[in-house]
Amino acid sequence: MTGTMKAAVLRTIGTPLKIETLPIPEPGPGEVLIKVHACGVCHSDLHAVEGDWTPLPNLPLIPGHEVVGEVAALGAGVDHLVPGQRIGVPWMYSACGHCEFCLSGMETICTAAEATGYSKPGGYAEYMVADAAFCGRIPDGADAYEIAPILCAGVTTYRGLKRTGARPGQWVTVIGIGGLGHIAVQYARAMGLRVAAVDVSTAKLDHAKTLGAEIVVNAAGVDPGTEIRRLIGGSHAAVVTAVSSRAFEQSVSVLRNGGTVCWIGLPGGKQDDIRMTISGIVNGEMSVRGSNVGTRQDLQEAVDFAARSLARATIKTEPLENVNAIFARMKKGEITGRVVLKLA
Ligand code: NAD
Ligand code: ZN
Ligand code: ZN
Repeated sequence: MTGTMKAAVLRTIGTPLKIETLPIPEPGPGEVLIKVHACGVCHSDLHAVEGDWTPLPNLPLIPGHEVVGEVAALGAGVDHLVPGQRIGVPWMYSACGHCEFCLSGMETICTAAEATGYSKPGGYAEYMVADAAFCGRIPDGADAYEIAPILCAGVTTYRGLKRTGARPGQWVTVIGIGGLGHIAVQYARAMGLRVAAVDVSTAKLDHAKTLGAEIVVNAAGVDPGTEIRRLIGGSHAAVVTAVSSRAFEQSVSVLRNGGTVCWIGLPGGKQDDIRMTISGIVNGEMSVRGSNVGTRQDLQEAVDFAARSLARATIKTEPLENVNAIFARMKKGEITGRVVLKLA
């Protein structure tokens, strides 16, 4: 396919994205060209633009990794997709497929992986190329804009909750009720867990309540650990999606003895180093784990929950041209749920 497309491009770290007209990319062997319909705006895109993480993204960069679109053209050797088919592109653009981690079902920690909208161009564009083997299948009936956030916020919190090992009937504390956290509340409920929600914004906590959180704690006013131990004796599990080092420092204290906290947020920069207390973890036999997006199988399971309306992102759609203003609102914590760019 020839022609041009509109895309939001980062040319220098820390500068606004610019809307540019670029050639439509060509899919190589094993790749697929996608006409993008929807792309969620994840806080990771803001971290990429601001240069919060090491290594930095490849420039020039087209961010965006919560993509839903349709197959526009197939590269050589791709025989499991058909033109016009609905498809999704997650953060995990590709993994090597032959390392120790890929072979053991842990492709999320493959050290040769590529990242959509970070090391590879992403979905803040009318068209993009993806690795056909790593695209998600999206049911025809699903709303493209509503399901787009499942490609990152959904799959990531789904896997993070599973990695806590929490069982039905147990309590999980979701710390940070933003784009990821508000979906985490819903997956937790669908898994039969009881949910306590922590944020520093009353609006976010009200949102958590409407999604099924039984307890909400505003960490701007009280110490969340003290409050959650007072109310329920501590939770069996916790996930941290907050963009604040303080929330990570506090995260073990919301647990009851033997509990597991799964860290998902990546504040980056100076906020990457935190202070914690050794004795609390040792004496209470606590576990702290990390969780990085999800495998392809996690993605299909997360999509399946969403397709059955067990997890539904609260969204607002906006045009690509609004992207810098959306980042400004995200930075101030003013977005409830997720903003999804409407490209078609
Ligand atoms: P977001 O901006 O939508 O939400 C962040 C939330 O954290 C907001 O509701 C904010 O009010 C809340 N918060 C801020 N300070 C807090 C505090 N001290 N205590 C409790 N809550 C606090 O961001 P998002 O899109 O949900 O992303 C969250 C983080 O997860 C980002 O750092 C992002 O890069 C990261 N992320 C990680 C993965 C992964 O695979 N591990 C995947 C996607 C996103
Ligand atoms: Zn993301
Ligand atoms: Zn690998």
